Amino acid sequence: MQDATLPRPAMLGIDLGTTNSLIAVWQDGRARLIPNALGDVLTPSVVSLDEDDSVLVGKAARARLTTHPQRTAAAFKRFMGSEKRLELGDRSFSPEELSALVIGALKQDAEAWLGHPVEEAVISVPAYFSDEQRKRTLFAAELAGLKVSRLINEPTAAAMAYGLHEQTFERTLIFDLGGGTFDVTVLEYALPLIEVHASTGDNFLGGEDFTEALLQACLKDWRLTPAQIDVQAMASLGDALEQLKRKLADGPQSLSWRHGDTPYEWTLDEAGALKIWEPLLARLRAPIEQALRDARLKPRDLDSLVLVGGATRMPAVQQMVATLFGRLPHRHLDPDTIVALGAATQAACKARDGAIEELILTDVCPYTLGISTRRSDEITGAFAPIIERNTVIPTSRVQKFYTTHAYQNLIRIEVYQGERPWVRDNIFIDAFDVEVAPSEQTQELDVRFSYDINGLLEVDVTLLATGERHSHSIDRSPTGLDEQARQASQERLTALKTHPRDTLPNRTLLARLERAWAQSLGDERQRIADWLDAFTTVLAGQRPSEIASQRNRLNEALDQLCL
Ligand code: AMP
Repeated sequence: MQDATLPRPAMLGIDLGTTNSLIAVWQDGRARLIPNALGDVLTPSVVSLDEDDSVLVGKAARARLTTHPQRTAAAFKRFMGSEKRLELGDRSFSPEELSALVIGALKQDAEAWLGHPVEEAVISVPAYFSDEQRKRTLFAAELAGLKVSRLINEPTAAAMAYGLHEQTFERTLIFDLGGGTFDVTVLEYALPLIEVHASTGDNFLGGEDFTEALLQACLKDWRLTPAQIDVQAMASLGDALEQLKRKLADGPQSLSWRHGDTPYEWTLDEAGALKIWEPLLARLRAPIEQALRDARLKPRDLDSLVLVGGATRMPAVQQMVATLFGRLPHRHLDPDTIVALGAATQAACKARDGAIEELILTDVCPYTLGISTRRSDEITGAFAPIIERNTVIPTSRVQKFYTTHAYQNLIRIEVYQGERPWVRDNIFIDAFDVEVAPSEQTQELDVRFSYDINGLLEVDVTLLATGERHSHSIDRSPTGLDEQARQASQERLTALKTHPRDTLPNRTLLARLERAWAQSLGDERQRIADWLDAFTTVLAGQRPSEIASQRNRLNEALDQLCL
């Protein structure tokens, strides 16, 4: 029984994005976005180390990508699940440690807004995230001191938020193109039931690749190679191309950039961009076709199309989708915020909030899970599927196997995920041994996989001759991370100083002014230098109301200059 006098834990949802992250809370029968210290609901997923080694997360850090690229990291979600380390000054961090700093900043924002500590949240992940990437996300939350009540697939979270707003959708395809990942989900609304039929995607395809393609094309036109350009100049060019990409919908765009004493110009229109992006647009088609095939639907069977993720704002992507499906996509809800709202909605469902108890969601396992087998003396390492992709979860499936030779006393079970016939081409998940009493005959065994709604897998092996059963829970800690490595991560983060939340708006403006100074020239640069001096003087005066009014004025002026 729950004590009625205790406040209910906040029902929070986090969208941990490649480019931006958001936190939302379910309150008074609806999901609301929580603003950060700057009053924004989008917090850039960027981390920077200040000169005194204190951590900056969000807009201030993003501004420092141009001015201090060697002390700043962005888009690290792309490396989640790998052993990559990112250097910030003379320290190095794993992608999950950097993600923990972003989650920690969102947690702090929620605590400041709600007025009490928060302990748990639903976190969204790309549907096509592997087992290891999911484990690393859980570990990032643990490092940030947050318990994850459920991992929800991003398109499924979007579907939940849409489910609350729309009552008419039936068969729907959710096309989710974020900064670094692409997911396609086919689902059916029969409210209160939301049933996911198929989910597929590409973990290495997103809006950042479209910017990168522009960068390569523009360097080629200028006959420059990346090796000739220093880190800071490259960061400022990347920044300028990101702005150019976002403005292409308004007509042809020009870009000016200096390298040493040489000025460079580049002009691009939508048709030119389409040519550069053709290979990326082609890569978006395969997952769509696979999701429809798995759901046994043709494009004409769909009742609606929903676009999610910031990169679906690109006209080139909208056009490609419209041509493929012969209709215009439905997108009146904000593609940037819908996932966080859906994650908070899921938190409310989990907490059985009165206003939402009705919504029931069924999701699928987006990839095939199975074990390594030997088909003959020649053929080893073949992949034997046990749970096929797009099986509704939770699920429990069993397959019969045999020992390979007489007097075998040990069976090695190696678990993999993937869609290729040989295990060497799939992703290794875990392995364990089962002892058997040697016998002159080969023995039969049942291997059962049970997969729950969070993507937790349990494997049971039953020896049919004796009925003996061995259970094995797949280890939830990231592969290759022992207790010592986990503690080292924790210590690395606790050793860092964080910027006090109330000084962040000033720190962010200073970072924006420095970036604007770096990006401008001549009279404009002089004007920004004057603003920088004026703001530094006001800060030294320590009068809060004067600082706030000057800050608002300068932020607006920078917004107008689009810097
Ligand atoms: P998300 O991870 O969903 O926040 O998506 C961020 C991605 O959306 C980044 O790659 C951005 O470049 C891209 N994006 C956001 N707004 C626009 C826009 N107006 N035009 C083109 N791309 C955009």
